[in-house]
Amino acid sequence: MSGMIFADSLSRLGTESAFVVLARAQALAQQGKDIINLGIGQPDFKTPEHISEAAIQAIRDGHHGYTPANGLPVLREAVAADLNRRHGVEVNPDNVVVVPGGKPTMFFAVMMFGQPGAEIMYPNPGFPIYESVIKYSGATPVPIALEEKNGFAFSAEKVLSQITERTRLIIINSPANPTGGVTPKAEIDKLVAGLMDHPHVALMSDEIYSNMLYGGREHVSLLQYPEIRDRLIMLDGWSKTYAMTGWRLGYAVWPDAAVDHVTRLCINDHSCVNAPTQFAGLAALTGPQDCVTEMVAQFDARRQVIVDALNGLPGVRCADAAGAFYAFPNIEGTGLTAKQAQDKFLDEAGVATVAGTSFGAWGEGYLRFSYANSTENILEAISRIKKLL
Ligand code: PLP
Repeated sequence: MSGMIFADSLSRLGTESAFVVLARAQALAQQGKDIINLGIGQPDFKTPEHISEAAIQAIRDGHHGYTPANGLPVLREAVAADLNRRHGVEVNPDNVVVVPGGKPTMFFAVMMFGQPGAEIMYPNPGFPIYESVIKYSGATPVPIALEEKNGFAFSAEKVLSQITERTRLIIINSPANPTGGVTPKAEIDKLVAGLMDHPHVALMSDEIYSNMLYGGREHVSLLQYPEIRDRLIMLDGWSKTYAMTGWRLGYAVWPDAAVDHVTRLCINDHSCVNAPTQFAGLAALTGPQDCVTEMVAQFDARRQVIVDALNGLPGVRCADAAGAFYAFPNIEGTGLTAKQAQDKFLDEAGVATVAGTSFGAWGEGYLRFSYANSTENILEAISRIKKLL
């Protein structure tokens, strides 16, 4: 037994169960079991060739040193141009901070505002890291309950009603993980208008799935609201849009008053993102975008297949998944809890999914299916579950 005494804060740190499910699915596959993985939240496509080539070329060209902590200026300029192209907004490249993935932005944002006595609001069910890091910071996590009857969009009225003097940060995420929900513009308008009465509250908008909306929907970026810019952190990145999860590359647009703070956090934490990856990110933003269009079209086709197939299962009903690449069916009619369904489907049908409760207490009764897999595998997975049910 080690005599080491760890910090108390570690007991408050949660995890992301999708990684636990992934490890179990891989272990079962190694034992020779035929596993279809609808558990993990990453595109099943290869990073487009021209993006990978740019990183290889960067290594050949000798780009192996540190870069500025906030990212290469040319990359931050490309991010600003991309945001202008996609959202029609003006962003100063000095407000862009490039980090290793989407996660560091949320960690830094929560650490910047979270401390005992502070309250931070976050979507529930939602990306599990929000609640985990809020607790780690010592702040009180205040859930924004997301409900199926509202298409898993937040209610601005509810969010605003939960604001207190102690509220420091509100986290929102649309399109959302794990629900695929997209919050309508009217609700965002209402939230922003209401926040004018609460100037002490910062907002982090996680827009990592901003390129993945279906059925003619268009993304509404919080950057499109100038009145909130002085306290908005807009998170986005390359992981999902360009199938680059393993590269570790993301960014956020920070308000003026936070840029120095976050840059110092970067310097203390990781110095900078590795240089070749930044060149890959540059090629992604400045190169042809048809790779994104094609990937999104494939997700859309699979989405329709999986939502239909799930609605054909006894005891299951699945709302139209409006964005990201997740379906979040209600499974209460099967008589199973979310965790029981997750374990049963993996052990007895060889299908990896993630229990809704892995995304917060409000996820009970739901299961997350990632449709970042082939149509053939999706249909096979649902047919196995059908036999089981
Ligand atoms: N935000 C949301 C809502 C996500 O679902 C994810 C990844 O699943 C991330 C951020 C983190 O992305 P990254 O892998 O780039 O850290």
